Amino acid sequence: MPLIRKIGVLTSGGDAPGMNAAVRAVVRRGISLGAEVVGVRRGYAGLIAGDFMELTVSSVGDIIHRGGTFLQTARSDHFLTEEGQQEALASARAAGIDGLVVIGGDGSFRGALQLTRMGLPSVGIPATIDNDIDGTDRTIGFDTAVNTCLDAIRKIRDTATSHERTFVLEVMGRDSGWIALAAGLAGGAESILLPERPLPMDEVVTRLKRGVERGKRHTLIIVAEGAGSGFEVGREIREKTGYDTRVMVLGHIQRGGSPTALDAMLASRMGAKAAEVLMEGRGGLFIGVKNEELVTAPLEQVLGRRKDIPDELVDLAEILAI
Ligand code: ATP
Repeated sequence: MPLIRKIGVLTSGGDAPGMNAAVRAVVRRGISLGAEVVGVRRGYAGLIAGDFMELTVSSVGDIIHRGGTFLQTARSDHFLTEEGQQEALASARAAGIDGLVVIGGDGSFRGALQLTRMGLPSVGIPATIDNDIDGTDRTIGFDTAVNTCLDAIRKIRDTATSHERTFVLEVMGRDSGWIALAAGLAGGAESILLPERPLPMDEVVTRLKRGVERGKRHTLIIVAEGAGSGFEVGREIREKTGYDTRVMVLGHIQRGGSPTALDAMLASRMGAKAAEVLMEGRGGLFIGVKNEELVTAPLEQVLGRRKDIPDELVDLAEILAI
């Protein structure tokens, strides 16, 4: 079992609320187990460049509640090459880093697996607002993004009811409908357009008219960006119904903000677990949460496997929107 003395930690891919809480937990749990912890700025690009900062108990103070990532994140094409990976490894070795925690998504985990195979034990923590990573019930940042959408939905609902309007809200999710489904279900949307389960526009319009006929004073339609453009959906509804229809694209506010309690807790638990696993000399692992218990699995097992949205929730959203 290799003895780990110095843990490196980096954030990679898209940022997600709770990444800072995860870094804080890696640092403090690592230190409590006798390790030194080094922060790597700008993901794999920073690892190659040797862009390191020593992290102490106090240097991660006052970040648990902050969105984004204070280590910053980047995408590195050079790291995709063997040469880039060798440079990253050499740079880690030169800094005495003998274990690495990678906080990010699927692409970032491929890098972590590669480094493990090259001799640097690395552990992955799932952080992406999309919640589409297999092997975990939830990813860090998802709950915060859903709550941001829900906040917008509730505000829009107030004005939709007052003015008897139809609102179309486009939310993030290029390939994954998790955010749209969760926010739509929790927000009581009439229709939810998901990339995984296409819904014909005629069906959307039929439901919309049915609701209005039975006296509904407002209608809310959620569109995941991967299921089509909110503006396009709004235009079609206007054309086919003549209803006063407004469109909102929520955009990047979904990525920012303080992590919710659920995300800050998940990040804290996963960060601490990652440090523990590394200190046991184990690498090539992924940390997930299943039924509220933390689990570990080989990275190979979760790579490239997108977590599908549950039919049960899609059906429920439809049933409750009658
Ligand atoms: P998100 O989905 O939230 O954007 P991600 O981790 O999937 O997160 P990517 O841009 O796919 O984001 O990956 C981040 C970085 O990980 C890439 O810039 C690259 O440096 C590295 N990476 C991606 N794919 C691989 C791979 N197959 N092998 C090695 N490294 C990779």
